[in-house]
Amino acid sequence: MSETKPALVRASLNGYRWEEVPNLPYKDNASAPFKAVSRQVLFADPQLGCELRYFEVEPGGYSSLERHEHVHAVMILRGRGLCLVGEQVSEVQPHDLVNVPGWTWHQFRATGDEPLGFLCLVNQVRDKPQLPTEEELSELKSNPVVAAFLSS
Ligand code: MN
Repeated sequence: MSETKPALVRASLNGYRWEEVPNLPYKDNASAPFKAVSRQVLFADPQLGCELRYFEVEPGGYSSLERHEHVHAVMILRGRGLCLVGEQVSEVQPHDLVNVPGWTWHQFRATGDEPLGFLCLVNQVRDKPQLPTEEELSELKSNPVVAAFLSS
């Protein structure tokens, strides 16, 4: 199987776009609820064993509330937001680092009037995200901090 390798150097375009990197929908299937999120895959060489993606959440937008076995290593690059990891809600800003452990509910929400942009490192081979059932969602909402986050 032939595979096109990216150029050795791909220039940044206006800061948050890159040469040869298509701006993709957040998810290939629109099965999960999310709003105003785009995805760019920056590094995906199979030899790395991992992928580095750049996500951007428009103001008022949010990523899907999900959990999975694989972990995320996130660095915020632009904007302001709130993130939920487990039952912890945190304000995030550029250069903050977020660990999402396996099987932990997580979601990112953009606050303020600039997009929330972040790098996300993941395993190349990974399981599919799970969405909360109605029961799991009401369990999450039994924590008032989480409930406030989810309705923000
Ligand atoms: Mn995830």
